[in-house]
Amino acid sequence: TAAQSFGEATLGELAQALRGELVRPGDPEYDEARAVWNGAHDRRPALIIRCHGVADVLKAVEFARSEGLPLAVRGGAHSIPGFSTVDDGLVIDLSAMKGIRVDPGRRTVVAQGGSLWSDVDAETQAFGLALTGGLVSSTGIGGFTLGGGIGWLVRRCGLTCDNLVAADVVTADGRYLHVSEDEHPELLWALRGGGGNFGVVTSFEFRLYDVGPAIFGGLVFYRGEDAERVLRGYREATRGAPDELTTLVNLTTAPPAPFLPAEIHGKPITAVGGMWSGRPEDGDAATRPFRELAPVVTDLFGPMPYTAMQGLLDPLYPRGMWNYFRSAFFGDLDASAISALTDAYARVPNPISEVHVHHLGGAMGRVPAEATAFASRDRDFILNVVARSADAGGYPAAVEWARTATGALGPDSATYVNFTGEGGEDRVRAAYPKDTYERLVAVKDRYDPTNLFRLNQNIRPSQA
Ligand code: FAD
Repeated sequence: TAAQSFGEATLGELAQALRGELVRPGDPEYDEARAVWNGAHDRRPALIIRCHGVADVLKAVEFARSEGLPLAVRGGAHSIPGFSTVDDGLVIDLSAMKGIRVDPGRRTVVAQGGSLWSDVDAETQAFGLALTGGLVSSTGIGGFTLGGGIGWLVRRCGLTCDNLVAADVVTADGRYLHVSEDEHPELLWALRGGGGNFGVVTSFEFRLYDVGPAIFGGLVFYRGEDAERVLRGYREATRGAPDELTTLVNLTTAPPAPFLPAEIHGKPITAVGGMWSGRPEDGDAATRPFRELAPVVTDLFGPMPYTAMQGLLDPLYPRGMWNYFRSAFFGDLDASAISALTDAYARVPNPISEVHVHHLGGAMGRVPAEATAFASRDRDFILNVVARSADAGGYPAAVEWARTATGALGPDSATYVNFTGEGGEDRVRAAYPKDTYERLVAVKDRYDPTNLFRLNQNIRPSQA
């Protein structure tokens, strides 16, 4: 392998030069260091550099470039296609870089590239502040922001990337750039939805909002047989929904949870989740239309701290399962979309795979399409088909199911890079309008013309 050709002296020098650790096959911590969230990607990197700061990132990028090593960059390691690991290559692991500084006066936060949403939420909530973050708190801010970022505040505060005001980036040629509206604005545009194509983002600066700590949110469960009725009512309810309310529907199987009656365990169930971030005392009324869509099995909506809401779904997404996501934006939850969704769920291959429909629009929809690399803003819904299996056995059937399920909405639906289980040019082109794609290629040509950063939803430079 490539690693064997370096020689011990070269690696010894590299290890000496780092503040962080160099982990290699055979080291006691190697298996833990190489593991990523998605169990479908069991890869064996030649080197893992756990960076402790920008200096380490600069050295790691330089090493990958000079040795011609395949390079994977890792924030929270939640990439569904497994982009944050690589066989026989180098992994730049940012997970030790979690420094976070909130400026309560200016309502901004600067967070290092290895921070998770649980980290950022904890620091910002100390001041009653927040921005759109992940629905699962173990997700990294890195890949999440660079791909877009849909969460419980998306209708009020826009996508996460809409709130990215500046970033520090180590580029392929070893430069360290401060990126903002004033410096490298075209790169800032590309970082807002164009993925990890342009360099290693060592820190992100975001705009914050007054949110919480008290919010009103939760989940309500309806029977699986009522899915169609729930979706029809959901469409109506979303039409009157204020920006402070973000909701989603999940067609799934009832887990053996104590809050669900035993007779429904293992049967299809339709869940509606939502968060109201306006005045807490208005939350009950604001969420009511979503909680009366059919006879209710269990209603868990109520007042809670924002950080509790941010962790509410965590137990459903453990590490190590085999996962494949596939997505499609769509404009209207009309009768044909509803039957496509319920038909898809009727063929679900196992109890842990799900069909999610997120309601978008609001602040996200008001950002002009050309303002950021994330461009799919005119459609009010996104379907995310979450196909899972406990191990390799059920995986091919789950993947096949997800592919068919999104196809049912129509062949021309745009996709979302963060809800996409595989790479490849057709997937990437499906995520961006033609003009946006060409503009991304121009930025790639300028900042990474040799495609050093290619383990991502890759924008291929024109000459590589
Ligand atoms: P990683 O695997 O570390 O990285 C993903 C990609 O981003 C890789 O290509 C990597 O190279 C690149 N990257 C990461 N950090 C950096 C950096 N600092 N600089 C340069 N490149 C970097 N998406 C949503 O929009 N909303 C959700 O609510 C949501 N929930 C999710 C829940 C779960 C359980 C999972 C697994 C995913 C979820 N996603 C969601 C999708 C998520 O946004 C993507 O998986 C995202 O890529 C994860 O980012 P990460 O930093 O954890 O991943």
